[in-house]
Amino acid sequence: RPFVEFRDVWLAYNEELLQANQFAVEAIDLHIRQGEFIAIVGPSGCGKSTFMKLTTGLKMPSIGRIRIDGQPVTGPLKISGMAFQSPSLLPWRTTVDNVLLPLEIVEPYRSSFKKNRKEYEARARRLLQKVGLAGYEDKYPWELSGGMQQRASICRALIHEPKMLLLDEPFGALDAFTREELWCILRDLWTEQQFNVILVTHDLRESVFLADTVYVMSKSPGRFVVKREIDLPRP
Ligand code: ADP
Ligand code: ADP
Repeated sequence: RPFVEFRDVWLAYNEELLQANQFAVEAIDLHIRQGEFIAIVGPSGCGKSTFMKLTTGLKMPSIGRIRIDGQPVTGPLKISGMAFQSPSLLPWRTTVDNVLLPLEIVEPYRSSFKKNRKEYEARARRLLQKVGLAGYEDKYPWELSGGMQQRASICRALIHEPKMLLLDEPFGALDAFTREELWCILRDLWTEQQFNVILVTHDLRESVFLADTVYVMSKSPGRFVVKREIDLPRP
């Protein structure tokens, strides 16, 4: 059974737009396998963020249905982790405390975090080491470069061991060298832990380097017009 299933999904942002048949995405049919890494590419405004909002349950379809991990989506999902173009670390918290943040604020993790803080902190430190931030765990965001902050934000997205990682242009603000370094780090994490990844990017090379499947979305209203399986040897 697919991990994510979209059946003929359409979304209009409000009643007025719906009456006018103005959809932000339309006729989305999609199956994502357990552990699959997909990338979505397409021009600005085509509906990529809307697709992400549907996938996290932040928006409900106007028409059609979405199932994730066998369950109909009825509201915001906690099985996903998210990272965006801007790392958005809290400046008054150290790197490790930024990574732990989701566990402190979201039930059901909150109660268990209070009891097992030591274990979670050890997990955060292990993750930070994996992404090359050993030695920066107790520093503040302003002591880190942009690339280092983005690594920390990916650790923050993974701290609760989500089944799905959603990345919206995560490497867009980085120089080409740092970006390729982060591609490899992301692919290593994914190979090791086998969560699903949905990556939104403007960078075709990035999509082909990282993803099992690349979906191309057309100019609004968003529709998937090309699906391309990438058959690259994996590490
Ligand atoms: P992308 O992420 O590919 O840039 P979006 O999903 O943000 O595209 O936008 C798709 C379409 O939906 C655009 O036409 C945009 O103007 C419209 N849109 C996005 N958010 C809203 C909103 N909150 N209310 C109304 N229209 C929106
Ligand atoms: P950027 O995002 O600015 O391109 P990277 O994240 O690739 O930079 O960092 C490049 C290297 O520069 C890092 O591996 C690190 O050794 C060093 N570096 C960057 N910022 C700092 C800092 N604030 N303190 C110490 N070393 C740093």
